[in-house]
Amino acid sequence: MHLKSLTVKGFKSFASSTTLRLEPGVTCVVGPNGSGKSNVVDAISWVLGEQGAKALRGGKMEDVIFAGTSGRAPLGRAEVTLTIDNSDNALPIDYTEVSVTRRMYRSGESEYEINGDRCRLIDIQELMSDSGIGREMHVIVGQGQLDSVLQARPEDRRGFIEEAAGVLKHRKRKEKALRKLDAMMVNLNRVADLTDELR
Ligand code: ATP
Repeated sequence: MHLKSLTVKGFKSFASSTTLRLEPGVTCVVGPNGSGKSNVVDAISWVLGEQGAKALRGGKMEDVIFAGTSGRAPLGRAEVTLTIDNSDNALPIDYTEVSVTRRMYRSGESEYEINGDRCRLIDIQELMSDSGIGREMHVIVGQGQLDSVLQARPEDRRGFIEEAAGVLKHRKRKEKALRKLDAMMVNLNRVADLTDELR
């Protein structure tokens, strides 16, 4: 599985539709200061469901929509599509190529799509949860974040690794199952009490 392409339109500094094609291996994005390199990384976080404006280096979520320049009027919506090569079936979906799209309007309304079909954010999160591209975006280490990862408490660092390895999903499922088991034990005890009373 690898990221194949990223199309941004109306997202931050990318007013016009712009597509970056990514080959397997290491991709370097170079450019002068302020030219939008980090915005590319923000676009990947955003399309995968990032909900925190701060994580996207903005004050509010609307800040991701192109705000206009002296020569160009602001736009009403931001749209990002990330296309992933899934020929190794790393994502649990029956397509060799998977495109995930997120669209946001100034009204705050958001839309998500998987291969052009409307879906919910949770569908995207579920799809990605085994891939190491999780909701918390631990696999995206932004500028200045390297230090915080290296200096994180051992348990937090373990969390980053578990998310990247796709373990977190199973941990969450285990916690849910244990909660159900607890509730079941309470019910069983109640049944035992009632049975005793009836004897
Ligand atoms: P550096 O090398 O300094 O880290 P960079 O290439 O990573 O810079 P970014 O931080 O990605 O640059 O981009 C910053 C630019 O994006 C700024 O010029 C800023 O004005 C522009 N920008 C951010 N949000 C918007 C927006 N909503 N509308 C228009 N432009 C925006």
